[in-house]
Amino acid sequence: MFVPTTFFDAIYDYEDAEYVIFGAPFDNTSSFRTGSRWAPDKMREMAINFETYSPKYDLDMTDILVHDAGNAFVSVNIDETLEWIYEDAKQIVDDGKFPIMLGGEHSLTYAPVKACYDACDEKDDFAVLVLDAHFDLRTDFRGLKNNHACVSRHILEDITKKYVSIGIRSGPREEWEYAAEEGIKFYSNEDVFEMGIKEIIKETMEYLNSDHIYLSLDMDALDPAFCPGLGTPEPFGMTDREVREVLRAFAPKTIGFDIVEIAPEYDNGQSAILATKLMREFIFAREASKKLS
Ligand code: MN
Ligand code: MN
Repeated sequence: MFVPTTFFDAIYDYEDAEYVIFGAPFDNTSSFRTGSRWAPDKMREMAINFETYSPKYDLDMTDILVHDAGNAFVSVNIDETLEWIYEDAKQIVDDGKFPIMLGGEHSLTYAPVKACYDACDEKDDFAVLVLDAHFDLRTDFRGLKNNHACVSRHILEDITKKYVSIGIRSGPREEWEYAAEEGIKFYSNEDVFEMGIKEIIKETMEYLNSDHIYLSLDMDALDPAFCPGLGTPEPFGMTDREVREVLRAFAPKTIGFDIVEIAPEYDNGQSAILATKLMREFIFAREASKKLS
């Protein structure tokens, strides 16, 4: 038997595909533990664990038009990497396909977000939803504008103010003050606990009021008990079911998706297993909504 270098059940050619998965193996600006560059291949390895059939949605992954393009070519330099990944993502969306990027670190998200925005025919409707433990609202960090701690700031300043983040529980005083001053819509981990995820989903749905949402899942939104293989783990996070609820609710309204910041060397595969499962739940939920409409 051969271990595939692509997701075993992503069986369609690029030309026929509706979803195009690609890895982005870059982690050079990670501020605590590097290693997210290994996540895409770890997820492919772990996917073999799963059945292709979803009893919840009565859908089989092999019937969904998914292509795994492999890993994007990256530079050692973040700015150059962002340019290259932008070109790759832009090609995918220009070809009418749905991009799913597997990081890699969170700074990379800027590239597919920009590509989806540039290709979006209803730019006023374009919105970004981020799940993250961290604000990522710094203008720059450790000498780099495009450090992984800055991605949401650049999205807000350069691309769209239609933005919500969920799971926030870490940031310097300046980021909390900036978020308050700018009226940035976010839900902390305490909000998730107190309000319940269903209420937050309802409010976020109304606030964004968009059918062109880019959804970015920084896996450190999850509690390290569920997802210990992270670059910057932060306790008291969201549960696996809460994150799944968000993905299921918003998947039908998305035009792009990514999963970032898993560092698989720090666990025994469970974070990559969870990320892989969440990606599959996302695809199933989006497909199921199309079947209904
Ligand atoms: Mn982040
Ligand atoms: Mn984070």
